[in-house]
Amino acid sequence: MPTLCAIVGCSNKTTNKNISFYRFPKVKMNAASDLKMKMNKQQNAWLKSLRRLDLANKNIDYMRVCSAHFKSGKPAKYQDENDPDWCPTLNMGYCVTRGVATSPVMKRIKELLKGYSRIK
Ligand SMILES: [Zn+2]
Repeated sequence: MPTLCAIVGCSNKTTNKNISFYRFPKVKMNAASDLKMKMNKQQNAWLKSLRRLDLANKNIDYMRVCSAHFKSGKPAKYQDENDPDWCPTLNMGYCVTRGVATSPVMKRIKELLKGYSRIK
């Protein structure tokens, strides 16, 4: 079974050899707590940039994002927070407009993302 890209409206599959697929940033449980915080922050940034409410109940370990959504073609490391590729930003399947965070849908997404904090 080919894996589909997790981005809304993106039909790239792992069977396309010209495209690379990347896993969601993981929070390594044995990392130091300040590093864990950065990993968790990047993971949340990815989830936020996807804007998919349905992901709240899914296991992101199985999800992939393809190279079409990164300026350099690959994601930046969790340490490089100022890198434009720290989270996927290109061809996101929705229009980026100012003020959307106040819409009821975005409020709901924000609430859901609060529940994503995996650092205990
Ligand atoms: Zn894609």
